[in-house]
Amino acid sequence: MQFTSTRGRIPPTSIDVALVAGLAPDGGLYVPTCFPRPDFSVPAPSLAAMATRTLAPYFADSALRERLDAICVDAFCFDAPLRPLDGAADHVLELFHGPTAAFKDYAARFLARALEALRDPAAPPTTIVVATSGDTGAAVAAAFHRRPGFRVLILYPEGKVSPRQAHGLECWGDNVVAYRVDGSFDDCQRLAKQALSDEALRAQVPLGSANSISLGRLLPQAAYYAHTATDYHARHGQPLNFIVPTGNLGNASAAFVARAMGAAVGEIRLACNANDTLPRYFAGDDYAAQPTRTTLANAMDVGAPSNFERLRHWHADDAALRAAFVADSVDDATIRDTIRAAPDRHGIVPCPHTATALSVLQTLREGGDTRPWAVVATAHPAKFESIVEPLVGHAVEPPPALVECLARPATATRLANDYRALVAALGT
Ligand SMILES: *Cc1c(COP(=O)(O)O)cnc(C)c1O
Repeated sequence: MQFTSTRGRIPPTSIDVALVAGLAPDGGLYVPTCFPRPDFSVPAPSLAAMATRTLAPYFADSALRERLDAICVDAFCFDAPLRPLDGAADHVLELFHGPTAAFKDYAARFLARALEALRDPAAPPTTIVVATSGDTGAAVAAAFHRRPGFRVLILYPEGKVSPRQAHGLECWGDNVVAYRVDGSFDDCQRLAKQALSDEALRAQVPLGSANSISLGRLLPQAAYYAHTATDYHARHGQPLNFIVPTGNLGNASAAFVARAMGAAVGEIRLACNANDTLPRYFAGDDYAAQPTRTTLANAMDVGAPSNFERLRHWHADDAALRAAFVADSVDDATIRDTIRAAPDRHGIVPCPHTATALSVLQTLREGGDTRPWAVVATAHPAKFESIVEPLVGHAVEPPPALVECLARPATATRLANDYRALVAALGT
């Protein structure tokens, strides 16, 4: 199986090259040249087994082929339960049972294990530079923590993440260092990109990236959609539709990949916060990236969704792409109302990101939609307790992994919003 770039200016390449490189040399995003069609007619015994089934065709020529199953067993070691809510057709797909209580754990764990297996043990250590608005940095830190041959350098915007998110970035130690940058998330991303494209720096300090455009983050996420949809279809004889809280479009693109591979994924709805670049586009406007707005669902505060380039590549034209998705924007007041009402209305406490999807579900039901829907729960509400607890009026019990993380001491160093400061931090 071969891979090319969304910009089409590279020769077809192997998945191993694409995983290590992250971004294609022509500045585009890596994509498979076609979508394989594994057998999704019968459920798999476990999420890990479905991950192997989903990913095996992509890894047919990989040096990791024989180890793929072991990597999937290790990466997909916590469940993604689909819970029915009160109404028979309403469900929530819980993707937050991993070490940092957000869905990004799955793909970060897969990527860390794949990169470790691909690296030359004699090479100097690789520093993974990750800019984060909260959840990515923690998932990447947890996934690479104590992995030989890797260091992780986290850049996050001071004061822009929840206290528990900050703790989750700062509690690792060993080969992980966290820097709170005196700036915005966009500043952090700019610093990381500048380092990753600085050839002189990279000659001295081997750098790697684990951001959401990496194929090693995108493809593994198709596994939980394939698993959930295949199980659902086996039991109910119909596809399951998904509402995906969306920022950079990584998670929703994975749902699309699962559907393109033949899994029984029905409609995919994008639930966005007040950052409405995608809702505007899908409603018919020309694509126009917007400046980022700060919202309660901070992991979705994205004005220029990076995976959009992949979705456009996979569709013949704008009309075809617009036919494949519907996108809705949910403002902060509605996020608050949805969280407040959710315990009575649905019997759950959602995180602010999950609340955007829950709000879209409510709108669908009010409009008379009776199809089966799964709201994708992207993070545990206890990670955002300062928002959620006052709205529901009681404490939200953190899951065991979060309790463990909160019990560890946390340290971060302040970093000026300045490239020279980052270069110094990289130890040159
Ligand atoms: C990252 C994140 C999202 C957005 O996912 P994308 O793949 O960037 O669209 C939504 N919710 C939570 C909790 C996240 O951490």
